[in-house]
Amino acid sequence: MSWTEQVAVVTGGARGIGRAICLGLAQQGATVVAADLNIEGAKAVAEEAKANGLPGKIVPKSLNVTDRTAVEAFVEEVIQEFKKISILVNNAGITRDGLLLNMEDEQFDTVINVNLRSVFLMTRTVCRHMMQARYGRIVNIASVSGMMGNAGQANYAASKAGVIGFTKTVAKELARRNITANAVAPGFIDTEMTKVLPDKVKDMVKQLIPCQRMGEPADVAAGVIFLASPQAKYITGQVLVVDGGLNM
Ligand code: NAP
Repeated sequence: MSWTEQVAVVTGGARGIGRAICLGLAQQGATVVAADLNIEGAKAVAEEAKANGLPGKIVPKSLNVTDRTAVEAFVEEVIQEFKKISILVNNAGITRDGLLLNMEDEQFDTVINVNLRSVFLMTRTVCRHMMQARYGRIVNIASVSGMMGNAGQANYAASKAGVIGFTKTVAKELARRNITANAVAPGFIDTEMTKVLPDKVKDMVKQLIPCQRMGEPADVAAGVIFLASPQAKYITGQVLVVDGGLNM
């Protein structure tokens, strides 16, 4: 299947890493549905693709990935409109950091709900269509926090470790249907998510990164696009770490 025949869904596509993934897939020629709570942001990404004359197109749609009814209606709408979903990138995610002793139940549950349960909801709904088509590429955005742990992120690290276990299981269940499932684990990437960190923390982390800089959203998108490509057909159940060497 060529890139121009592909229909991709990217959650959290309005900004940051999701935006870079949408633009990267549209650069290859795919039709990309940018699904986000922030519809204005998703519309701006679609406009950007158009203004830059990218070969593919970006279609903005509003979606709360934690809402099962909304997820099912969204997938149905995309299938009606584009007949298939060949690529699913589960990228939407949040942080609600705090040390364990001070972490509220709500802080833990919200992060698990947005970062992990949503990946289950989206994947379960979309994979039915991929199974019928006997083709699919699922890429889930995890994090090095889910591999190394990170003080202040018990909720986030647990959700991302969960994403990795989920991805490997999906890979095993769906491999025979020609559907791959892989995770990309970014390190420390320059987006709105990390902008809130104090400069002192950023400088400290940069010193631990062999590349000595934060990553760019496009660095992560490059890994996602490779795993989403038709050529990556014999790669499944893997975690591609994009972290400038942090987690070596
Ligand atoms: P970001 O800049 O905060 O963007 C996240 C996007 O997801 C936002 O547009 C946000 O919309 C959307 N979103 C949040 N909750 C949603 C929901 N329930 N339904 C639909 N969309 C929702 O984050 P990012 O840095 O690009 O991160 C993207 C992914 O990479 C996340 O999974 C994150 O955990 C992971 N990651 C990031 C880093 C990093 O250093 N930045 C490192 C490792 C992993 P609103 O603006 O409306 O909330």
